[in-house]
Amino acid sequence: MNTYDVLVIGGGAAGLSASLVLSRARRNVVVVDAGTPRNAPAANMHGFLSRDGMPPAELVSAGREEATGYGATITAGTVAQLVHCGPSGFQALLDDGQRVKARKVLVTTGLRDELPDIPGLAQRWAKDVLHCPYCHGWEVRDQQLGVLWNGPESVRYAQIVRQWTHDLVLFAPDNTLTPADRSQLVARAVGVVEGDVDCVVVHDDQLTAIAMVDGRRIPRQALFVPPRFIPNHALLTDVGCDLDEQGWVITGPNGTTNVPGLWVAGNVTNARAQVITAAGEGSAAAIAINTDLVGDDVRTAVSHFNQGFPV
Ligand SMILES: Cc1cc2nc3c(=O)[nH]c(=O)nc-3n(C[C@H](O)[C@H](O)[C@H](O)COP(=O)(O)OP(=O)(O)OC[C@H]3O[C@@H](n4cnc5c(N)ncnc54)[C@H](O)[C@@H]3O)c2cc1C
Repeated sequence: MNTYDVLVIGGGAAGLSASLVLSRARRNVVVVDAGTPRNAPAANMHGFLSRDGMPPAELVSAGREEATGYGATITAGTVAQLVHCGPSGFQALLDDGQRVKARKVLVTTGLRDELPDIPGLAQRWAKDVLHCPYCHGWEVRDQQLGVLWNGPESVRYAQIVRQWTHDLVLFAPDNTLTPADRSQLVARAVGVVEGDVDCVVVHDDQLTAIAMVDGRRIPRQALFVPPRFIPNHALLTDVGCDLDEQGWVITGPNGTTNVPGLWVAGNVTNARAQVITAAGEGSAAAIAINTDLVGDDVRTAVSHFNQGFPV
């Protein structure tokens, strides 16, 4: 079985950034990556200083090249099981039967976006059905935009999307908006269409309208949808990581968890992390992990020294 200083599970922005910092710190690092970064369906990535507009796959490919250039190993696969072996570290079982042993583990497995069950919505995801105005708002600025209701937070979300267009409609089920919601929406000229959405209408590979169950068709060029974020954190809960009231793994400084030797970074614990944030969290966790390893190395060296082992 291969043994490493650090096993990084997940090779998106968070995991690759961590592996770069750790391999430059002369740590023996393996990244196991299933190869499905969350933004893969998008044609371009925005808001990453110096990388604005780069296709997501190019960032991953550059990150892999940089990390492997310093000696990191990148393995394609999925970690199916993680076992905490106490002070000696962790063992991971991959779906192809490989086993990996590591002193420390960083989990950067991201999250899954669960969309409302409306016909056609999923097929338009990352094209003209969007979730993040900071990622894609500029590209659809001044167009006929819509926001799909997905709970009371949708009103505040619509007010944010309003920043990118003067022609915005909030699609909300009947009897959901409060008088305060209505007055705020009217005050900023956000239209409201009440009722149930039937499907999205597409012509020539472009969203053209939102069809309502009652037969109305509201012309729209793009629709913002707040998805439900589902963290990919089964490996973490299986080894005993504590969750907060919203069901997210509780973290301390630089991504520590309540399980000694186990760190997290990126969307797996922080749904708001953009690519640049995830990369930053990965870097901070990597530095904390190396510091922890140095602490272990010092303790081991002192113990060996006191027993008279050669240095
Ligand atoms: C459509 C869309 C467009 C976006 N556009 C932008 C944008 O323009 N700008 C921006 O800043 N942000 C954007 N984002 C957000 C961006 O995707 C996230 O900020 C970023 O992906 C978070 O990085 P991460 O490393 O935490 O997770 P991810 O990039 O999702 O990487 C997680 C990795 O872990 C792997 N993995 C999961 N489970 C396992 C396992 N058990 N074993 C091994 N590997 C595993 C996955 O295959 C994946 O490769 C967008 C999101 C979406 C959905």
